[in-house]
Amino acid sequence: MHEIRWNPLVKKWIIVAAHRATRPWRPDEKSREFTCPFCPGAPELKNLDEWDVVVLPNKYPALIPEPQPVEKEEMNILDKKEARGVTEVIVETPEHEGDLCTLTLDHAKRVVETYRNEVDKLAKERFIEYVAVFRNKGKEIGVSLTHPHSQIYALPFIPPRIMAEINAIEEYKKIHGSCMICDIVKYEIESKKRIIYSNEEFIALIPYYAMWPFEIHVYPIKHVKTIRDLNDHQLTSLADVLRVVTATYNSLLERDAPYIMAFHDHPVKGNYEYHFHVEFYQPYRDKEKLKYAAGIEWGFWVFTYDGVPEQRAVELREACRKAVKTLNNVLGGCM
Ligand code: ZN
Ligand code: ZN
Ligand code: FE
Repeated sequence: MHEIRWNPLVKKWIIVAAHRATRPWRPDEKSREFTCPFCPGAPELKNLDEWDVVVLPNKYPALIPEPQPVEKEEMNILDKKEARGVTEVIVETPEHEGDLCTLTLDHAKRVVETYRNEVDKLAKERFIEYVAVFRNKGKEIGVSLTHPHSQIYALPFIPPRIMAEINAIEEYKKIHGSCMICDIVKYEIESKKRIIYSNEEFIALIPYYAMWPFEIHVYPIKHVKTIRDLNDHQLTSLADVLRVVTATYNSLLERDAPYIMAFHDHPVKGNYEYHFHVEFYQPYRDKEKLKYAAGIEWGFWVFTYDGVPEQRAVELREACRKAVKTLNNVLGGCM
């Protein structure tokens, strides 16, 4: 069963994938039976010789290109549709351990380039409205395989989070005649209070409006609507920031840190006002304590921020300084 069900109260689609309930959770990697499906030699990768980054179909897809027709409910507002889409896994390296920050800059750039190429490819599918690129890391986030990988969900609708941003950016444009994110970037560069890292093309900052304690946003400095418009130099610059941000989290928590990375991109159909960016959510609020999304957050969609973003920025900048030093010593450096 692959269907999307409409929640008429909050006007959002839910992806319902019955078979995903049976997928394994964090197989015991130390047990003798365990073989990593993303390590060289795995059946999925048998026919490839040399590879550094590889795209595989998701073995437990939430959406598929040709789902069974759905049987509608008799009540009209309880709407549903086929969950028509594509899900992919991007295996980022043949190495079983690591993160974006343990790749060389060149290698990390090939990962980012793979994202762009996949978005380009999936955009051509008639039934795809949006391509969501994301990376989950760590058991706290529920990641079932440690081998470095990211994921792509090509969706038959525009995610509500993206639609909310589009609406805000379009409204701002009508009133002020400029791009909201461009204006925020200009302001943040001048004020310096919340900036963690920057190179020629991108800045990483803790947003004024952060919801998670160590949330980091990565914005292109020049206006770019979609990842599909990034040139070669911008792709390398993006890879550079992503390495630095992930290394910053490791340095902050003094261990292999969990996080969620979400690419916020323009939809693949239509033409909206938008400014491509990447958001990172860090589940910890200090070295030991997790920040839970609980009653007020889940039950009401109201976020409470523990601390003050400007103070967290000081901590993140210090962690970033150490991270850059390590990258410079070990992996040939940053931009
Ligand atoms: Zn592996
Ligand atoms: Zn802009
Ligand atoms: Fe966003």
